[in-house]
Amino acid sequence: MPNSSNNYKTGEVCDQEARYQCLNCDWAEREVFVDVSLGLLFPFCKSCPAPGDATWHLVQAVSA
Ligand SMILES: [Zn+2]
Repeated sequence: MPNSSNNYKTGEVCDQEARYQCLNCDWAEREVFVDVSLGLLFPFCKSCPAPGDATWHLVQAVSA
């Protein structure tokens, strides 16, 4: 089921292989990106100062 907002939380299953940006870090003017493959779980953000779930926003889909 596609997520219409293109936002995902830590621990959710990736259904779109793509590059994602940490929104928490984006708000803090840090550019943090991860590449997540189909079927993998979204990671924690290593750059967020506070522990907890990160919110990842799709920035660039991977086109095979
Ligand atoms: Zn972050």
